Amino acid sequence: MLDQEKITQAEYDEAKTADLRASINPSQDTTDEISAYFADYAIKQVVGDLMKELNLKEDEAKQMIYNNGLKIYSTMNSRMQKIAEEEFTNNNNFPKVTGLKKDSAGNIVGANGKILLYNYDYYFNAEGTFLLTPEEYQAADDGGIILTKGNRLNFYNTEVQGKTDYSVEFKDMYVVTDGVFYVIKGGVISIPQQYKSKDNDGNLVISGQFFKDQPDFFEFISEGIAMKSSTYTLKQKVIQPQSAIVIFDYSYGGIKAMVGGRNTEGRLLFNRSTSPRQPGSAIKPMGVYGPALQSGLEKANAGMTNTTSEGNSFGALWTAGSVIDDAPLTIQGKLWPKNWYSGYRGLHTLRQSIEQSINVNAVKVFSDIGVQTSVNFLKKCGITTVVESGDINDMNAAALALGGMTEGVSPLEMVAGYGSFANKGNYIEPIAYTKVTNKRGEVILEKTANETKIMDEGVAFIVQDMLRTTVSNGIAGSAAIGSQPVAGKTGTTSENYDAWFVGFTPQYAASVWIGNDVNVELSQGSVSAAKLWSKIMKRVHEGVAPGSFPSAPSNVISVAIDTMSGRLPSELSALDARATVRNEYFIKGTEPVTTDNVHISAHICSDSNYLATPYCPNAVSRVFVKRPYVADPRVGDYAYEQPSYYCNLHNPDVTQYPIDPNVTLNPDFNWDGGIGNPDGGGIIPRKMVFIYASNICFFDKCRSSSTV
Ligand SMILES: [Zn+2]
Repeated sequence: MLDQEKITQAEYDEAKTADLRASINPSQDTTDEISAYFADYAIKQVVGDLMKELNLKEDEAKQMIYNNGLKIYSTMNSRMQKIAEEEFTNNNNFPKVTGLKKDSAGNIVGANGKILLYNYDYYFNAEGTFLLTPEEYQAADDGGIILTKGNRLNFYNTEVQGKTDYSVEFKDMYVVTDGVFYVIKGGVISIPQQYKSKDNDGNLVISGQFFKDQPDFFEFISEGIAMKSSTYTLKQKVIQPQSAIVIFDYSYGGIKAMVGGRNTEGRLLFNRSTSPRQPGSAIKPMGVYGPALQSGLEKANAGMTNTTSEGNSFGALWTAGSVIDDAPLTIQGKLWPKNWYSGYRGLHTLRQSIEQSINVNAVKVFSDIGVQTSVNFLKKCGITTVVESGDINDMNAAALALGGMTEGVSPLEMVAGYGSFANKGNYIEPIAYTKVTNKRGEVILEKTANETKIMDEGVAFIVQDMLRTTVSNGIAGSAAIGSQPVAGKTGTTSENYDAWFVGFTPQYAASVWIGNDVNVELSQGSVSAAKLWSKIMKRVHEGVAPGSFPSAPSNVISVAIDTMSGRLPSELSALDARATVRNEYFIKGTEPVTTDNVHISAHICSDSNYLATPYCPNAVSRVFVKRPYVADPRVGDYAYEQPSYYCNLHNPDVTQYPIDPNVTLNPDFNWDGGIGNPDGGGIIPRKMVFIYASNICFFDKCRSSSTV
């Protein structure tokens, strides 16, 4: 900066020598009410840019900000920031901690029986005294003690002024006050470095000299060694669950509000909005469905036509109308994945699969597009925390299709990634400030967000529209905010450890995460996050005229399809009582070009409901679904599948007309005598009965065969 003559030598010297000051108020209106989380993040971004743009060291950049009267023009909207902070102080907006398993001492244990959180009362008595029990220490020869490892204290190797030190720390614990659950992330027992050493077994040795120098520190009583509260410091107790939100203006990249925790105070706090957590199903639009539609478009551009979207046919040209069978999937000998509901629901389009957040279908699509397509797309969406190598990595469906990632994704990266769908396929990097001026008012840094086209506008539009119906028709209804359209996706991780909603309106995007700092269960999953999102965004949009999402770009067309086959409707498609003909959006060239082959008409004995033999007296034509592969009887829509066995009531020959092994052949059927033959003699060619079948029916819905 000095080189560029943006500051004087005196300013430079001052910046180099001045002490870091503790506070700064970087905001447009220079109020001092700016959120610590936002301010810390904005400063971090400015420091990074000063280092990069002006070739400064980190210390130099920080000193410049704190001491040179720099003014940071942040992107924060103080009204929105206040709304978010207010809602974060309301405990009723958050689920409870639940499902806790405790041992006899009241410590919370995980599924493997390991202690996750110690009971505060197991550590301390009412006066805050910590009692070391005789199992936790031994007397040493020099009059000191040996603290044995593997108990309630951790001994960490640290370094103080080049010398090894050992930090004696409490483990993570919890305390419940007035029914509210808090976590205390440990604490430190303050014994000076020179009195401590470690023995060969990893136990911590406190020298006899310490007991001479500080005789009151440890008090030997009959139950063990008592330590008063003055001998240790505990970390701040932090309310649980915790939460984070980022509100983002995806039109130019400005972060409008950021909250990284609730009921916390101070500066330089742990910011959960920039810390990764497992995203669960909220990853699906970026890890599976966005890249699938983009790859489908690329296949179409390469000359492929959409004739292959049938069931699980891999190598498909994926569109919003592609049909995927939610049926049991066996991977490495195990039924995996499970859905969030019990069982399997059968044929669903890709749109319905996202609306209902069907895990099986996400895994099937992911397996088809391949892990690298998914990773590349996620990275283009600005996700920096995909672990691509190492023993534990994210190069699998569990991580990238279902969101069980090694590190996870931060709420900030999540909202910016979703912003690409809202912003016509352009990823915009989130920025916290637009300008920095020096004390003379001269601009020394200007920031415009980098914008990169990462997918076709038509793909972005269709994903946006699928996220819209996920809120209007799907499982994310709790996120709706009245007349303001909302598009978004929920996410929940196993045992309800994390709850997410990430979504956007025509004006703003926001991501909400709720979870515990230590992995224990929430009383409610993603519904809690969707509700909080809705509550905050409703207030954010007060006074903002309800907008509407942009209409389809010119390369997107709406086509009526049959949603059981993913193809153009046939005459039979319309007979499905489930109303399976729907309009769907396609990028031109990716629309289906073949006709429904999944709905078929078959002759059924209306007495047995199996395929009719020529001898069934009451045969009718009915419309069924027949998958182009063997249907799994465990799917929820199996009842609609065409029977594969023949009638057991009117069956002359089970070799020719095989019957369901689960039913018995009717021995009383006098096929020789015939039915409907008043004379009772001879075999009547009962194929004739088909002529009398006047209706074509799909279960309860029938119409005259004459129109077919
Ligand atoms: Zn029959």
